[in-house]
Amino acid sequence: MGRGADVVIVGRGPAGLLFASLLVQHGGRVTMVADGQGTLPLWGGHWDFRSYGTDQQPITNPYAWWRQSGKLERQKDTQLWRRRWFNLEALWTDVGIPVNVNLDPGLNRWIMTPMGHMRPTYLSPAWHFSTDYPGPVVIVEFPGLADFSASAVSVVYQWATGHRAETIRLEPPSPWREGWHALNWAWYLDSDLGRQWLLGALTAKEWPKDAAVVFPQVLGIDQVESLLREIARIVDRPIGEVPLLPPSVGGLRVSRRWERWLKYRGLTLVTGHVVHAEGNHVLLANGRKLHGDRVVLATGGILGGGLVVAPDGSVRNPLTDTRVGSIADSGIGWVGHVDWNSGMPVVGRTVGGWNPDREGNGGALILWTVHEVFQSLVGHMPSVEEG
Ligand SMILES: Cc1cc2nc3c(=O)[nH]c(=O)nc-3n(C[C@H](O)[C@H](O)[C@H](O)COP(=O)(O)OP(=O)(O)OC[C@H]3O[C@@H](n4cnc5c(N)ncnc54)[C@H](O)[C@@H]3O)c2cc1C
Repeated sequence: MGRGADVVIVGRGPAGLLFASLLVQHGGRVTMVADGQGTLPLWGGHWDFRSYGTDQQPITNPYAWWRQSGKLERQKDTQLWRRRWFNLEALWTDVGIPVNVNLDPGLNRWIMTPMGHMRPTYLSPAWHFSTDYPGPVVIVEFPGLADFSASAVSVVYQWATGHRAETIRLEPPSPWREGWHALNWAWYLDSDLGRQWLLGALTAKEWPKDAAVVFPQVLGIDQVESLLREIARIVDRPIGEVPLLPPSVGGLRVSRRWERWLKYRGLTLVTGHVVHAEGNHVLLANGRKLHGDRVVLATGGILGGGLVVAPDGSVRNPLTDTRVGSIADSGIGWVGHVDWNSGMPVVGRTVGGWNPDREGNGGALILWTVHEVFQSLVGHMPSVEEG
């Protein structure tokens, strides 16, 4: 390990967490400052590589897509992508987030949406219901869970896949109240009382032999793996969860575990709103200054606060007060990991120019920009060793 460069990262979303992880793995020291939690608790934590083509049709082989259609020569390099995904899988395993991923041969897998459709993704936490070939399923209905109606999901699933979808309904436990949402269920199922209730209720049911068992994503926050193991013993078939609408239990699990891992590796986490950033320091709204050898912005897109759209349509980075492009530019930032006008390294959605909502490449956006910046910075920070 090197002597440890000091880096200030602004932003606590997945891009900031991944950048911080690479730094601490290579001997760096990180101060992370953020005014909010980032987007992870808003989504399930399944990382898309490239899920849809320009025609909006699902993509089976994302490596082939990038080889053919990557905007930059480096983005066509299959081996480079593969190394980066391997790196993420190894990191998450260390963090305590086991994953489903088809690294070899490198194909997308199918996960279920809360509406019962199947959609492709590349890497997902192992608790997700994820499959190479959809087949018959049993869908478990939790009382009063507005985000996930098993009967409606089963109708859509059968229509979309042509496979059978049965439903099993659970009766409410005694602490249950009208209006419980996914997080209420998840905290309850982290408790001994909740686990006993669920395992008892599942034991009392008959389970069809040939169908995977699908739960809404409510099976605890910190104890999910042990609960899944116990459920698997009862139902004796593949099981998994469907990520629900925000706030997402899956994303919350990911961010809690990842931040904990970083904290016991020395991360300093500061809560605060940054009003100005430049080369080696940031200024917070309360007047405090944080210094480092470098500052990296992981401040997210328009939703995260990292990009601001002015009434004339121009897109600005408010921390560097630089124009990043216009809302009409389809290619803002494709090349980039540096806010060229200010010289600041930026990662994640702040880079702009990607359209994860339409193209299904949100995970690729994070992975690509973080590794590009990391590689370019280690060359200028001899105290951080290159991996
Ligand atoms: C609803 C939703 C669903 C998604 N679904 C998927 C999916 O299915 N698959 C997939 O791969 N990706 C998905 N994504 C991920 C998305 O496409 C992006 O890749 C991801 O959100 C980018 O994260 P980020 O770390 O760049 O920014 P963010 O997560 O937005 O983090 C920004 C951070 O910067 C901080 N910040 C911003 N400005 C300041 C400031 N001035 N001072 C201090 N802190 C500041 C914020 O507090 C926050 O901590 C989803 C995202 C959302 C929101």
